[in-house]
Amino acid sequence: MTFLKEQTLAEEIRADFPLLDQRIHDKALIYFDSAATSQKPLAVLSKLEEYYRGYNANVHRGAHTLSTLATENYEGTRDKIAQFIKAGDRNEIVYTRNATEAINLVAYSWGLNTLKAGDEIILSVMEHHSNLVPWQIIAQKTGAVIKHIGLTPTQELDLDHFKTLLSERTKLVSVVHVSNTLGCINPIGEIVQQAHQVGAKVLIDACQSVPHLPLDVQAIGCDWLVASGHKMCAPTGIGFLYGKLELLEAMPPFLGGGEMIQDVFLDHCTYAGLPHKFEAGTPAIGEAIALGAAIDYLTQIGMERIHAYEEDLTAHLFAKLAEIPDLQTYGPQPTPEGKGRASLAAFNVAGLNASDLSTLLDHEGVAIRSGHHCTQPLHRLLGVTGSARASLYFYNTHAEIDRFIVALHETIDFFRSTLD
Ligand SMILES: *Cc1c(COP(=O)(O)O)cnc(C)c1O
Repeated sequence: MTFLKEQTLAEEIRADFPLLDQRIHDKALIYFDSAATSQKPLAVLSKLEEYYRGYNANVHRGAHTLSTLATENYEGTRDKIAQFIKAGDRNEIVYTRNATEAINLVAYSWGLNTLKAGDEIILSVMEHHSNLVPWQIIAQKTGAVIKHIGLTPTQELDLDHFKTLLSERTKLVSVVHVSNTLGCINPIGEIVQQAHQVGAKVLIDACQSVPHLPLDVQAIGCDWLVASGHKMCAPTGIGFLYGKLELLEAMPPFLGGGEMIQDVFLDHCTYAGLPHKFEAGTPAIGEAIALGAAIDYLTQIGMERIHAYEEDLTAHLFAKLAEIPDLQTYGPQPTPEGKGRASLAAFNVAGLNASDLSTLLDHEGVAIRSGHHCTQPLHRLLGVTGSARASLYFYNTHAEIDRFIVALHETIDFFRSTLD
């Protein structure tokens, strides 16, 4: 009797990602840069084509059949996003270009009109530039003061420090759920609870969590949450803001123009209701429709399953990286089962330059990122100018990790030999 080896998730779905099946510098591609952007499955590519070939038309101007079809599909994605993150109401989902635009929407609409001199904004030292710069701009305009939550010795968010920063002056806490550099998973439920006790609002940057784990905005209790479609198997140019209904209703528009109005006069106008009040101009229609296909795809696999499989990858990646001398990873170590952190590893090898590493690995077909990963203040705090980062998704395999490690060994040996 023969036993068939059970297929891993990646083996099961790998053919859905034709891009991964190619050679770079005559080596089989290993794509380990999904924290920067994910690859797209055929279901998403064909949805985009279906729209452009079949019912390309502008939305919400439904004078004809194609426009009605486009609008139904476009608005259908809004329902899918709401279900995916368990929002209570579809009007709590606002389309944006990406997470960066969603944070700017909150900063300019809510922050600029609410914050006063002396009010405090709490961010953390591990924030992506997207969750630092908009608040710096708003703080400059309003006189609000920004404080930063520091790190624990294991390079995780220091919750005790957070509690000492909280006061009745705190008006906003805006933090990342899963760090794109440290890979730590922050206790956002507890952060929300603590912040609400002093009457502060909470924004969650969920760019690295929405694509990788099941998420429930009502259980978390956050006031806003942002994510980008391109990191969750969808095209670029589409992302979303979740906001509590009563908050979004009270917030003034961010951008003005078509689509966001009810009636326009030469000297004034009335605004459309939610969510259109925040969606000025012709949106990324095809991209939004394709995001719906991406959510269907992820849901079909199951976010629990994706998360569990990525834990396996994490365990293997960190066990292998630990065997490399003089290699330092950042953020918390995973448990032996790969729990407690995201499936990405930012690292440095003593004496070697991270961008040299990634350049040479590219010649081995390995795509990893190097640089500051849009967390320059965090790198400064860690005492380095940059790091290399391997970031995985559910389409990656254990065999790819093994090949990456071999290539990394060879690359390090090569550099060491040139230094001798
Ligand atoms: C990618 C990322 C962002 C920014 O996403 P954009 O798509 O560039 O707007 C913000 N925060 C984190 C944690 C990210 O990983």
